[in-house]
Amino acid sequence: MAQAQLIIDLDALCANWRALDALSRSETGAVVKADGYGLGAARVAPALAKQGARRFFVALAEEGAAVRQALGQGPEICVFSGHMEGDAALIRDARLTPMINSIDQMLRHVEALPGHAFGIQLDSGMNRLGMEPAEWSALRDIALAQKPRLVMSHLACADEPDHAMNAQQLHCFREMTDGIEAPRSLSATGGILLGEAYHFDVTRPGIGLYGGLPFERAQSVARLSIPVIQMRDLAPGETVGYGNTFAAAAPMRVATIAAGYADGILRAQGPKGYLLADDRPCKILGRVSMDLIGVDVTHLGEAPQSLDLLGPHQGVDQVADYAGTIGYEVLTSLGARYARRYIGG
Ligand SMILES: *Cc1c(COP(=O)(O)O)cnc(C)c1O
Repeated sequence: MAQAQLIIDLDALCANWRALDALSRSETGAVVKADGYGLGAARVAPALAKQGARRFFVALAEEGAAVRQALGQGPEICVFSGHMEGDAALIRDARLTPMINSIDQMLRHVEALPGHAFGIQLDSGMNRLGMEPAEWSALRDIALAQKPRLVMSHLACADEPDHAMNAQQLHCFREMTDGIEAPRSLSATGGILLGEAYHFDVTRPGIGLYGGLPFERAQSVARLSIPVIQMRDLAPGETVGYGNTFAAAAPMRVATIAAGYADGILRAQGPKGYLLADDRPCKILGRVSMDLIGVDVTHLGEAPQSLDLLGPHQGVDQVADYAGTIGYEVLTSLGARYARRYIGG
């Protein structure tokens, strides 16, 4: 079988949730947008609910409906994009909580679904989603009278603890929300690590659950194991792959493995990346093809059956470094062609 295996360790996921939960006295939610950061929200969300997570966050109402199917009634599912035109039936039927981003969204929501749960998203400086201070002052009393389930904002620089933006956004969020009754939320993974002042009532970790930075203590959740299709010996001067970008300087052994950029393995890592034979790094040779990658296995004693791109010895952030990106992109790029296997949970 040439199909690569993506093994998702739900026990490690749950251990990461518990470890983040232990860092604050707040309720710890779970962000499962983008299909649980590429690892499968239908499996990730129920495992976290069993662990005790009661509030889940997604980007779109459609994602929320899928998560509701997986979770059943009970946990709250908050939608960051709020209440968009055409969302009313989904929000009602799946009992979603839209995080309202503007006065327009608020009007749409109360008109279409009077009495239905909602939350509020405020912009404390990131200029991405949520109401700015002036818009919030205009809506504040009316919105608070209808008892929002959560009032939240999002930090732009929480992965840089010394960045002045953190304190600035904290100050702005407090100015907009101090004294209100509704539960408040400011922090994702990075904010949890900034300390108690940033925790408020509910936290919203995503990447840390899935084994990524800035949660350095995270356990590895995803293992990606790619079968070797063929081995060959190169003589000095022979090249590997498209464009002849790699030429052997000495005799060497090359393994051709069965995955490529069509599987979300970022092509940009070609010149810098490694795969692993257990804990031994094996360099990528030449360009990553659509379905294949050439890998240097000269130093291994025997021909490997498979090589791992992700696992306990090489996490998503290491692979991200090779490609000049972030662990989030490595995870959410994981393709649809893998045999996915879940362990634990
Ligand atoms: C994605 C996201 C999160 C989770 O962020 P991580 O850095 O993955 O922990 C939390 N809140 C909002 C608004 C988000 O968009």
